[in-house]
Amino acid sequence: MKEISCKLLIIGAGPGGYVCAIKAGQLGIDTVIVEQGRPGGTCLTIGCIPSKALIHAAETFDKARTLSSGENALGIRVQGASIDLSKTMAWKDAIVGRLTGGVSGLLQKARVKIVHGHAHFRDGKTVEVETETGLQVIRTETVVIATGSDPVELAALPFGGKVISSTEALSLTELPKRLVVVGGGYIGLELGTAFARMGSEVTVVEATSQILPLYDADLVKPVLRRLGERGIKVLTDARAVGLSDTGEALVVETAEGRRELPADRILVAVGRRPRTTGSGLEELDLDRIGSFLQVDDRCHTSMRGVYAIGDVTGEPMLAHRAMAQGEMVAEIVAGRKRAWDKRCIPAICFTDPEIVSAGLLPEEARGHGFDVKIGQFPFTANGRAMTVEDEHGFVRVVARADTHAVLGLQAVGAGVSEFASTFAIAIEMGARLEDIAATIHAHPTRGEALQEAALKALGHALHI
Ligand code: FAD
Ligand code: NAD
Repeated sequence: MKEISCKLLIIGAGPGGYVCAIKAGQLGIDTVIVEQGRPGGTCLTIGCIPSKALIHAAETFDKARTLSSGENALGIRVQGASIDLSKTMAWKDAIVGRLTGGVSGLLQKARVKIVHGHAHFRDGKTVEVETETGLQVIRTETVVIATGSDPVELAALPFGGKVISSTEALSLTELPKRLVVVGGGYIGLELGTAFARMGSEVTVVEATSQILPLYDADLVKPVLRRLGERGIKVLTDARAVGLSDTGEALVVETAEGRRELPADRILVAVGRRPRTTGSGLEELDLDRIGSFLQVDDRCHTSMRGVYAIGDVTGEPMLAHRAMAQGEMVAEIVAGRKRAWDKRCIPAICFTDPEIVSAGLLPEEARGHGFDVKIGQFPFTANGRAMTVEDEHGFVRVVARADTHAVLGLQAVGAGVSEFASTFAIAIEMGARLEDIAATIHAHPTRGEALQEAALKALGHALHI
């Protein structure tokens, strides 16, 4: 048995943990990080990156297939289009390999010690790790729990056989002919759309009355329309009950009664739960909110010297939130005065078309008691959107009616995910409608729709 000690011990090298470790290393803190899988965590290995790679491959194939299916306005002729999913997955795996290797390199450069293996807490300051070369005991002054999350399993539909989670969906080498997706949230719609674009017949089963219930109906409408155009069936107010007697179909309950949906694969994507079992965390006296670890505005838990960051601390379960928390905690451990002071955490749904949102939606702003001015500009009036043949969607700005301070920015449309940075900068810097309206937006870009939305909220749009 080997024993080491350090000032900072981080459990989990996902976006939260690895960013915390790199920052801590850069600040000269003696840091150890323990990871049981590959550095990069869910995000790099089975989440953000692989899913976006698959979405891109599906989009490229879909375009080729559409171009090969007959005449088009652009006068382009393409003959035949096919996809070899095993090759697509190999390409995706190579990207994952490059990124996880990159994270290892960055950790080494920051002089962080990486211990490979499963960490188990003995107490709040001591952790045991089963490594390939035996048991390693690590004693520390400060711990950061960054153990992430796992997919939620439905009791009536346990994972196994044809019932899969996003992890298996992102490694399929054969296209399912009929894919039923349980859960019309982020994962269900991103992956469901990708498989439909590659040729699967897709049905989405959503328990609430609207897919993507986090967003308002106006933002979701263009996505819903496109799902319909692609032949993706959407059942709302529908619950998955279990497999049929033969195991060939999913049984769902809707307002009209029970029905069976024949399926080759059933992707269950009904949320994620914090990874807090199997590592001795149960024995620590940590306060929780539901199953998530409770933290204060410095990501400190209820136990002295123990911090928690990322998915294990709850919603929104997004990689960039985990990273921001990780960076902040490293600075706190280095003695800097820091607390969570972010005005917004932008969120993107990589559907077709994409949805992006930063700050408050109109109803949320009203719910906070604000009188609001709203400006919305459609891509049908945007030159760039016409030249790239995708005019679906709009940009919307939500501002205080009295001061014109921007409270929220949203968009739905092709490629609008890249608006996330501009939206977040505007809100973090306290922009007013006049600031956005007076900023020169380069032409021709989709971004001009943001300036026009601000002008519209001020009552003098130019291009509509
Ligand atoms: P994780 O990334 O889950 O990392 C935790 C790490 O801890 C893991 O590597 C795990 O092996 C390790 N670990 C756990 N317990 C132990 C232990 N006892 N000992 C040693 N190691 C341990 N977010 C976005 O922002 N944008 C997206 O586009 C996006 N797409 C997604 C797509 C999918 C399919 C999924 C599943 C998620 C997606 N997410 C996305 C969410 C994002 O992946 C997570 O929010 C993010 O990975 C959370 O980071 P984390 O550091 O908290 O945890
Ligand atoms: P989600 O919370 O986004 O969506 C789950 C959906 O399943 C909800 O619409 C919910 O109403 C529905 N649901 C719940 N129980 C159901 C049932 N029994 N039958 C039918 N529908 C049911 O969760 P997810 O899609 O699993 O994603 C998990 C998390 O991963 C997200 O919360 C998000 O934080 C993260 N993620 C982010 C991105 C991104 O940023 N682009 C992409 C993928 C995942």
